[in-house]
Amino acid sequence: MPVKTVAVIGAGASGLTAIKCCLDEGLEPTCFEKSEDIGGLWRYKEHSEGDRASIYQSVIINTSKEMMCYSDYPIPEHFPNYMHNSKIMDYFQMYAREFDLLNHIQLKTAVCSIRRSPNFSTTGQWIVTTEKEGKQEVSVFDAVMICTGHHTFPNLPLSSFPGIENFKGQYLHSRDYKFPDDFKNKRIVVIGIGNSGGDIAVELSRTAQQVFLSTRRGAWVTNRVSTNGYPVDIAKSSRFGSIFQKTLPTLVNYMAEKALNDRFNHGNYGLLPQHRYNSQHPTVNDDLPNRIIAGFVQIKPNIKKFTDTGVIFEDETIEENIDAVIFATGYSFSFPFCEETVISVKKNQTALYKLMFPYQLEKHTLAVIGLIQPLGAIMPISELQSRLAVRVFKGLVQLPDNVSMVREIVHKRMKMADRYVESQRHTIQVDYVAYMDELATLAGVKPDLFRMFLTDPQLAFHVFFGPCTPYQYRLTGPGKWSGAREAIFTQWKRIIKPTQTRILKRSAVDSSALLMLKVCAVFIVLTALFLYFS
Ligand code: NAP
Repeated sequence: MPVKTVAVIGAGASGLTAIKCCLDEGLEPTCFEKSEDIGGLWRYKEHSEGDRASIYQSVIINTSKEMMCYSDYPIPEHFPNYMHNSKIMDYFQMYAREFDLLNHIQLKTAVCSIRRSPNFSTTGQWIVTTEKEGKQEVSVFDAVMICTGHHTFPNLPLSSFPGIENFKGQYLHSRDYKFPDDFKNKRIVVIGIGNSGGDIAVELSRTAQQVFLSTRRGAWVTNRVSTNGYPVDIAKSSRFGSIFQKTLPTLVNYMAEKALNDRFNHGNYGLLPQHRYNSQHPTVNDDLPNRIIAGFVQIKPNIKKFTDTGVIFEDETIEENIDAVIFATGYSFSFPFCEETVISVKKNQTALYKLMFPYQLEKHTLAVIGLIQPLGAIMPISELQSRLAVRVFKGLVQLPDNVSMVREIVHKRMKMADRYVESQRHTIQVDYVAYMDELATLAGVKPDLFRMFLTDPQLAFHVFFGPCTPYQYRLTGPGKWSGAREAIFTQWKRIIKPTQTRILKRSAVDSSALLMLKVCAVFIVLTALFLYFS
């Protein structure tokens, strides 16, 4: 039975592109969004709401615009490289308008349950129960895309903190932190050195009396702004670099740690972890060392116990008169509307093929989109997952047999456990280039570099040595976009544009472009010599 109707759950970063990919493949998506507007996590609200993801007012994304855009819709050149959440919302609105997505979204409509239809093994259909304004409705869909994110349910590990029950100060999870006003002149402990903990500690340190940032294992702290002022992910996410990462991980660790310690010595700043650079999800924070060196943030070890009014850290140092504690301790994910036999989650571990497909289903008509924590941006990955999912639904791409899928799931889990420090934040990690290429291979859209070097060497050079921007996955195969090549050639212009706000009479030489040209020349000469002598 051909798949036609698709229920998309959630209209955030993943849901929007899921709708678009359904439309591109001639399917009929209906997106159910519980809240009153699109944008998911990125739509800031002054108060956190029930089981909706929630961000603080100042959040700036830590992936740059050329790496985070959808692959056939570049972010306008005047938009900043690292966007504030309000700008990301502008981009989502533009994307939704451009591809006419809003007509397919039912707002204020919650999905209560999805169940396999009684004849699932032949039809692959789903019974979806939704609720709007207290009224329930049941519909049948040929396929389902779950796009509900993984930053909704706070991980608040109170039982790991003895004495918290008697602590007289205020405590809250980072999802309930919105802005610093309420914490002026206070003494605050922030627990956890992920990106929320780092951002919140820095922000509070500007108005609080003192901030203590407690970490149980330290962190390597990276910058958004990299060499020559380019966004760090632009400088570090090439196919060329990805080969290094795969083949020489120890060297990559050494080089990254050296560069980070050259900027500020992580040992002297109390941040040095026991683990290597690549063993932890990156903490990106340009300001943290400035706040530490100015004394407004003090790095502390884990908390041993709470007293009535303060905390005792594991090194036995005591801080009294603590007014507030912010648990920036991350998130758990779950799919409460879905039967456990379809997707089960234990301690943030779930068994999905490619982190998308429940391998055990007789029909592959369900995909989870965006359940990944990439070293890179989520949006283009969700998009490529969606492109793959719709082709699987339509039977244009076959998934391997169950045994092969389970073998790969187990293999990936072991590799992740091998590389990352044990933590429930490291269960859905993916490397951007490697994972995108895996999906692209299945979907038939991976650029063929060898062929490209022969037919379009200039493009091949950009694709191999340049940043692996999402446009690369629109150069060939189903869903090919005629603007992809041009988007790759103009990406540097879009990166530079928003910071060139003062027009200079003589523009400075762009050293990275120069370096690219030099490497290109060497490459061409070597190829010519090889061809001449062979
Ligand atoms: P997170 O990355 O999961 O970090 C949680 C932190 O809390 C880790 O340092 C973890 O330490 C610590 N922790 C957890 N349980 C603990 C316990 N029982 N005792 C002591 N420490 C504990 O969470 P997050 O910072 O909220 O970030 C969530 C996601 O949002 C990430 O993908 C992040 O990159 C993203 N984010 C992005 C931005 C941005 O773009 N600007 C801002 C904020 C968040 P261990 O490492 O030891 O487990």
